[in-house]
Amino acid sequence: MLGLYIHIPFCTHKCPFCDFAAFQGLAKLEDKYIDVLIKEIDFKVKQNQVVNSIFFGGGTPSLTSIENLAKVFQVLKTKFSFAPDIEISLESTPHSLDLAKTKELINLGFNRLSIGVQTFNDSELIAINRDHTSLQAEQGIEIAHLAGFKNINIDLMYGLPSQTYESFQTSFFKLMNLSKQYPYLTHFSLYGLTLEENSPFYKLHSKNSPLYPSDEISVNMYIFANKIASQFGYDRYELSNFAKPNYQSTHNLNYWQLGEFYGFGISSYQYLNNYRQSNWKSISKYLANYETCETVEYIDPKTKLKELIMLGLRLKEGINLQEFSDKFNYNFAINHAKTIAELEENGYLLKDLNNIALTLKALPVSNLVIEQFF
Ligand code: SF4
Repeated sequence: MLGLYIHIPFCTHKCPFCDFAAFQGLAKLEDKYIDVLIKEIDFKVKQNQVVNSIFFGGGTPSLTSIENLAKVFQVLKTKFSFAPDIEISLESTPHSLDLAKTKELINLGFNRLSIGVQTFNDSELIAINRDHTSLQAEQGIEIAHLAGFKNINIDLMYGLPSQTYESFQTSFFKLMNLSKQYPYLTHFSLYGLTLEENSPFYKLHSKNSPLYPSDEISVNMYIFANKIASQFGYDRYELSNFAKPNYQSTHNLNYWQLGEFYGFGISSYQYLNNYRQSNWKSISKYLANYETCETVEYIDPKTKLKELIMLGLRLKEGINLQEFSDKFNYNFAINHAKTIAELEENGYLLKDLNNIALTLKALPVSNLVIEQFF
């Protein structure tokens, strides 16, 4: 498996909780940025390989002009061979979509669209300072369908300021009901709000602000979503990701299985030949020095094993014991027998002959459970 991640950092608006390399008011740099991005792809890729997934993330890459996206596709097609079942995703905001452009995105080759809805509650959208409304979210979904996207992801959040358990339920049911109306809503990601220290949100609403639902209520929101999603045909295949059958994200699965991927564009990571490296986070540094990177790290076998344990336990199917033994000559069940027995006894782990996985009870405290193995 090989994936490509392409970062396009321009947004109409900088959300205060976001610490991604995403900028408001810099769209004038788009043409220059795309030129450099193409040079970077050309510079980095020396060998033609089959690519299984491409993910245009950001930022809001759906704001990029069709001409510029076409230029990127052109270079990608000269540098890589696209697998016949390749997944090509684009991140978007609801109000960046119109019917004509969305159709053109499909014509270019995109076959999966991800829409950042976050919540269908207007007061919560205001509380997190998004610049779209819940009506625009619905309209964005309708446009994606009318244009012909047959694989659509929705990003939702919980634990938002001013959010209550009841308002989350209403918002979540809204998504579930829309999935009946629009059968190509095949996937959703559900993330708890994290307060990144670099984000303006951290200063606006500190962790102790009474505006936030308590940890207990946030956990209940997550558990509620887990229970209801299955009634609407979604299966949780990773801690934060739910899909209808056969619609798991190829690109994300590759990350969680520690597969290889290239990263192009400001702040993007790549993982190839046991090296993880990240591009410059500063846009001026990236534009001037796309050939160099900000960090490089060798992932030795011990680190790789640790990462695979952490990532594997995030997946619903958990860790495949045979695979660990074949790939690393590592007997996970024997090496962690005591931890496994304790966690199993307390209802946090399920173990059978082939796999070890977290239980529903463990999901809201997954980080603490996974830590027990180290
Ligand atoms: S639209 Fe997305 S990428 Fe842009 S600032 Fe908001 S959260 Fe960040």
